[in-house]
Amino acid sequence: MMENALFESHFDLIPFGIYVVDAFSYTLVYSNRAFIDRFGDHAGHTCHKVLYESDRPCGNCRMGELLGPDGRPNGRTVIFEHFNEVDDRWYQMQNRAMTWPDGRVVKYSIAVDISALKDTQNRLAEAHAELALKNIELTRLSTTDMLTGLANRQCIDGLLEAQLEALAEGGRPLSLIMLDIDRFKAINDHFGHLRGDAVLAALAGLLQERVPQGCTVGRWGGEEFLVLCPGLSLAEAFVLAEGLREAVMGLGISGLGGVTCSFGVVMAKPRESGEHCMGRADRALYAAKDLGRNRVETG
Ligand code: GH3
Ligand code: MG
Ligand code: MG
Repeated sequence: MMENALFESHFDLIPFGIYVVDAFSYTLVYSNRAFIDRFGDHAGHTCHKVLYESDRPCGNCRMGELLGPDGRPNGRTVIFEHFNEVDDRWYQMQNRAMTWPDGRVVKYSIAVDISALKDTQNRLAEAHAELALKNIELTRLSTTDMLTGLANRQCIDGLLEAQLEALAEGGRPLSLIMLDIDRFKAINDHFGHLRGDAVLAALAGLLQERVPQGCTVGRWGGEEFLVLCPGLSLAEAFVLAEGLREAVMGLGISGLGGVTCSFGVVMAKPRESGEHCMGRADRALYAAKDLGRNRVETG
């Protein structure tokens, strides 16, 4: 028929596969040029054999979704993505049932090869995952002090601000302990910088181990550390600092004489800024230094 020839020549220009199968026998009724170029000319053979080398209907055509209870086309177009293991390609399938000119109920499929798109999607997903992992690592690096593994100054600053905000909203008390190694320069001078580093790492370990849950230990500067103690009153933080001071005295580092620290303890006031609070802790710490070191002062 004239119309059919016109219709077929148009369909042959379409660059993706179009094929029609009998809805009940699954035999190929029509295939366009793109389909034939890829799968060969198999008119009269079943689509599951041609496409999937299978002797039984495969279910990929979703026939049940295309026909009404009366077995007639229900007018729905079912669109899905599908990976064909035989030719190793991804397809976007558009399936719909219709009545063929000879009266048969058929299903026609448009199969667009989306393998390149899938490949790009996968590479994008991989790149996203890699980026997310790198971000986690970057966050860790930017918030951690490399030598001691403690929270670094930037991290502890942020945490202090957040805890002060919680305090302003009527939260629990918040105390701060600032401590500094006594005569640390002499340790470096006598035993070398590497041994000095070992002292810093050992002290960090001791502090981490000793502070109660909920407290955060950070390395504030060179040989200065900070412990944020949410929930602890000044008196409780003082007791904690005393315990830490004594524990530091017992810190055994081979070949080194004892190490001591001085401590400044303060309790944050309502609506006090982090900077102001830290300033008070710093002054209390230096009072402890002035009063002979290896002691705890409150401010
Ligand atoms: P004070 O009792 O008054 O605190 O005396 P100090 O010697 O501890 O104080 P000072 O500020 O004079 O010296 C601090 C020293 O800490 C000097 C610096 O070389 C050392 N330091 C800072 N950061 C590090 C580090 O990462 N590793 C080592 N090994 N030493 C460090
Ligand atoms: Mg010092
Ligand atoms: Mg210092």
